[in-house]
Amino acid sequence: MRYEDLTIYECREGPPDVHSLNVGWLGGWGEPFAQGETSQAFKERLFQFCLDRYAVHLCRGYHECEFCGGWHDEAKAKYGEGASCLSIGNGEIRVIGTTAVYVAPALVYHYVVRHAYRPPDCFIEAVLTGPAPGSEEHETLLNIMRW
Ligand SMILES: [Zn+2]
Repeated sequence: MRYEDLTIYECREGPPDVHSLNVGWLGGWGEPFAQGETSQAFKERLFQFCLDRYAVHLCRGYHECEFCGGWHDEAKAKYGEGASCLSIGNGEIRVIGTTAVYVAPALVYHYVVRHAYRPPDCFIEAVLTGPAPGSEEHETLLNIMRW
């Protein structure tokens, strides 16, 4: 399933949420996406967002990497039990920015690390400077999404 970066996120099971924007819903083989360097600090913080306990809302279901496959076993071995959403892509993350909430597949970390995906600057900024995963603000948002 492909969605352009920064388009409005609409979950088919709920009403459109105009404050939520898509990031990192890449297509499969042959579909171009933004690539470039991202900082180590960004990657480390993004990883935290993608852990199971912060992944929510399985509205788009199973979402394995269409570019390389094989990520599941590799990630399980590398990151352990706490990273299964990240490893199989079965979940979404929420990142709180100053003007919007960003919705990305948990696989976004894998896209960044393995496929050099470069998300929009506003998303990178939100990951680095917005409320941390597990913070009160982030938990409050997740609790709304967990149903
Ligand atoms: Zn991949």
